[in-house]
Amino acid sequence: MVKPRPYNFSAGPAAIPEEVLQQAADEMLDWHGSGMSVMEMSHRGPQFESIIAQAEADLRELLQIPDDYAVLFMQGGAIAENAIIPLNLSRGAKADYVVTGSWSQKSQLEARKYCDVHLSASAHDDQGYGSIPDNAAWSIRPDAQYLHVCTNETIDGVEFHFVPDSHGVPLVADMSSHLLSRRIDVSRYACIYGGAQKNIGPAGLTLVIIRRDLLGHALPHCPSAFDYAVVAANHSMFNTPPTYAIYIAGLVLQWIKRQRFEGLSGLAAVESRNIAKAHLLYDALDASELYETRVARDCRSRMNVPFHLRDTALNAAFLQGAEGAGLLQLKGHKSVGGMRASIYNAMPLEGVRALVDYLKDFEKRHG
Ligand SMILES: *Cc1c(COP(=O)(O)O)cnc(C)c1O
Repeated sequence: MVKPRPYNFSAGPAAIPEEVLQQAADEMLDWHGSGMSVMEMSHRGPQFESIIAQAEADLRELLQIPDDYAVLFMQGGAIAENAIIPLNLSRGAKADYVVTGSWSQKSQLEARKYCDVHLSASAHDDQGYGSIPDNAAWSIRPDAQYLHVCTNETIDGVEFHFVPDSHGVPLVADMSSHLLSRRIDVSRYACIYGGAQKNIGPAGLTLVIIRRDLLGHALPHCPSAFDYAVVAANHSMFNTPPTYAIYIAGLVLQWIKRQRFEGLSGLAAVESRNIAKAHLLYDALDASELYETRVARDCRSRMNVPFHLRDTALNAAFLQGAEGAGLLQLKGHKSVGGMRASIYNAMPLEGVRALVDYLKDFEKRHG
């Protein structure tokens, strides 16, 4: 009997479905009879061409991406996009930002290097982040080139459960940590981007989904490899793309297509399972005397669940006991403290059940 793998609650790089890891292992030395590992293939050869084309087709199918959107496979992560977005979309003029957590805060600071940034809304108070300001009260400049939001704040656990009204200003969203966790209406956004290492695959791959009419306005000093129009015209092959990361992401996309839950399939099944997982965990936290969550109910993240032990002296014992129970990487981000359970697509319902059992057991012993 092979020992079961522990449940991994890392915020990112995060767990990848075990089936995908197994398939990658099986194909490591010889991909589909090619005699090569995917890592060893020319990105311009027919084998890799088929891998990237399939990945793009599957992504388009899962998110129902309209034809007038380009899909770009880039590098640099969402932090590089914090510069790449204004370099491509700001025209050196005005861009508006909504700050609902640590990541959108970073985004607006970086954008200041390239354009005139205005904060349309900010949710920071003496408790930190944990809410979304009422959309109706955002001050959006009508002549802003775009409005930027982060629709799932990975560190703070704040998720948008609605598409913001941007009053006709193109809406740009950092979806790094919840892209493909739920169905979305791509047509409501001008540009969606995210690093893969939270919910889609390994670090090294950044996905950008952008409406084609926004291409072609990069600032003159924008690096060519980061100019969306150049990347799109070269089908993400202007420079060597992160081939192995794209291959693994492709396997994850096929895994999503195979998922079934409560009569649903594909992304709808994944979304419904994610809702069930989040309910299970938040209900357990709400019912407890020992743990607390600080994020407003209407914007609790389904993916990243920060929580605190009321008695912080118990933190070390909690984490040590969790590891002993096969529950890994539950320590919260240093800026927030406490704990954080990231329950991305690859976390099975049983993993959340195991965490809930541990929460209850620990409270019984220490509450
Ligand atoms: C992880 C994360 C980032 C940073 O990603 P990098 O790959 O380190 O650049 C940015 N935004 C969000 C929402 C994230 O979750």
